[in-house]
Amino acid sequence: MKKSKNNTEVKKLNRNRVFRFINSKQKTSMPEVAVALHMSSPTVLQIVRELHQTGVLRDVGELDSTGGRKARALATVKDIRCAVGIEITQNHIGIVLTDLTKNVKAGERLRKRFVFEEAYFKTLGQVLEEFIKKEQVEREKIVGVGISIPAIIDMSRNYITYSRALNLYDVAGDMFSHYIPYHCVLINDASAAAATEWGSGHLKENIVYLSLSNTVGGAILFQNPSDYTKDDYYSTNVFESMYRGNHCHSGEFGHVTIHPEGDLCYCGKKGCLDVYCSALRLSEETDGKLEQFFVELEQGNQKRRETWNTYMDNLAIAIDNLRMCFDCEVVIGGYVGSYMKPYVGELRNKIAKRNIFEGAGDYISVCKFQNEASALGAAEFYIEEFMNSI
Ligand SMILES: [Zn+2]
Repeated sequence: MKKSKNNTEVKKLNRNRVFRFINSKQKTSMPEVAVALHMSSPTVLQIVRELHQTGVLRDVGELDSTGGRKARALATVKDIRCAVGIEITQNHIGIVLTDLTKNVKAGERLRKRFVFEEAYFKTLGQVLEEFIKKEQVEREKIVGVGISIPAIIDMSRNYITYSRALNLYDVAGDMFSHYIPYHCVLINDASAAAATEWGSGHLKENIVYLSLSNTVGGAILFQNPSDYTKDDYYSTNVFESMYRGNHCHSGEFGHVTIHPEGDLCYCGKKGCLDVYCSALRLSEETDGKLEQFFVELEQGNQKRRETWNTYMDNLAIAIDNLRMCFDCEVVIGGYVGSYMKPYVGELRNKIAKRNIFEGAGDYISVCKFQNEASALGAAEFYIEEFMNSI
């Protein structure tokens, strides 16, 4: 049974909703807040006063009037805090800076092969330090550094149970933050990327994110609308909406079986989705260069077209299964997702033929973010935490 909230909790929740709503807009007004969040004008006025006193809101003139008195325009102080996100992959380190806008304010990517050794983590600390200096970030404003890695992570214990890409098995996560003098958290790369996509506000309230990178993974995001109005959806804490499962194994779509007697997966099973739909299945034909695969596909190369058709057939099976399980929007992300836009119609047609309930595959969408999605999502973890504290 759902626990009812006491008065203090309700007040805190409402203050948070008002702040998040205002933050999700360039500028807004108290009447707009009241209508969107179904609150009375005196309640909104009281909360806005409180927020002003803490320095997180500012007046930004007046809103254009459609008749009558012009309303006072409000905005949040977007740069009152910032966070850094780092994405670690087998061969690269990506780093981004964001603030309350959750947009990339600065970013860079460098080639650095991952090795689980002290020297690597020392370099990681130096890379962060140089980035902060170069971007002239005010240190006291940094709320934390989120690190995205391609791994199964038990976040409650800061423990990595498995990462094929980084060749890690049962290791504590402490080493990653050893040379980072800020709050630090490790986040699964697909979960971080899903958070970024969802936070950009172009998706429905529930989504399944399917990450098609060198391994296949994903994330499941469910919104609990009971405390919120529809206008709250994109301003609630996305990390609280992730379904993690009992053992942090949720969203491991790469090891869903799509061909019981199929090819052998690295996990030891036969016919896993990872075997058929990882980005490697495509890039292995073009010397490890995924971009080259899509260039040649676009140019009409027959061999690439055949490979792509098979890839899409297998992907359609997987997406149809996801739709049957979750009945919500499916977002295609990861390395392949960023090339998928011109082919989404083709994919929708294949899926429509499989689905017994729906004649169109319009519940599929393609990721908006590319390389920076996971790093940005990792940074957002701390921005969300800061916003929760308001
Ligand atoms: Zn497998």
